Amino acid sequence: EKIKKGKGVCLSSCCPSWVKFVEFNYPEFIPYLATTRSPHIILGALIKTYWAQKEKIDPKKIKVISIMPCTSKKYEVERDELQIEGMDPVDYVMTTRELARLFKKRKINLKDIKPEPADNPLGIPSGAGVIYGATGGVAESALRTAYHMITGKNLKNINLRAVRGMEVIKKAEIKVKGFKARMAVVTGIGNAEKILKELQKNPKAYDAVEAMACPGGCIGGGGQPLPSTPEIRKQRAEALYQIDAKKKLRLAHESPIVQKIYKEFLNNEKTIHKICHTKYFKKSREVKI
Ligand code: SF4
Repeated sequence: EKIKKGKGVCLSSCCPSWVKFVEFNYPEFIPYLATTRSPHIILGALIKTYWAQKEKIDPKKIKVISIMPCTSKKYEVERDELQIEGMDPVDYVMTTRELARLFKKRKINLKDIKPEPADNPLGIPSGAGVIYGATGGVAESALRTAYHMITGKNLKNINLRAVRGMEVIKKAEIKVKGFKARMAVVTGIGNAEKILKELQKNPKAYDAVEAMACPGGCIGGGGQPLPSTPEIRKQRAEALYQIDAKKKLRLAHESPIVQKIYKEFLNNEKTIHKICHTKYFKKSREVKI
């Protein structure tokens, strides 16, 4: 929508390290960051509002713990502007490495545990959500749904290989119904900075940028089990694409849960803004002692 209205480049906002980098170093780009909160913050907010109301639970008695590939999410959950009704949407963040350590300590072997579905009403993940973990996954997921929003139809081939792969900067041009958008997908802060410098020289260089701070995206996150070599990251990304390919539900806009929540709860601008959007601030690089 933002791109269509010609409001300048749209920068992704789901990686807190990237957002913080922009706030500290390139505040002139703050107005271009998508105002969408990161997915686990939206989920936490939904758990403490929509789900709590449905289950008749006092939200103050709910503790939300996100299991994340990311050490930066530990900082993100403390951002005051994310609070809803005086509560932090997410109370604690545990990294996947910390969880693996806990499993080892308690002698829990995942292979011995029978898989079971996640709890409802928020427990049906789509393939579009799964691929968020690899560089290009956020762009692919958004493009699958954007195509549907523009044309009213789903893409015939939803495997968007132009934005997949471990290259640190990928560029793609998307053409739909006379609408053209240039997209950059970038991984690693140093590479993301190159894109920002390009945009400083030519603000029309890109219409949308997906930026992830860690190598290969969250599959190479600072909280992931070690070692994290390029080969291991490639395998992790391939595993996510395999999970996506096997899922019946691969498009976010087809999720019955998402549709239900929009119908029952996120059905007015005020609530959508409270649960799903945020703001950013210019931050000082000075350390006051
Ligand atoms: S790319 Fe790294 S810092 Fe950014 S959200 Fe993923 S794990 Fe966290």
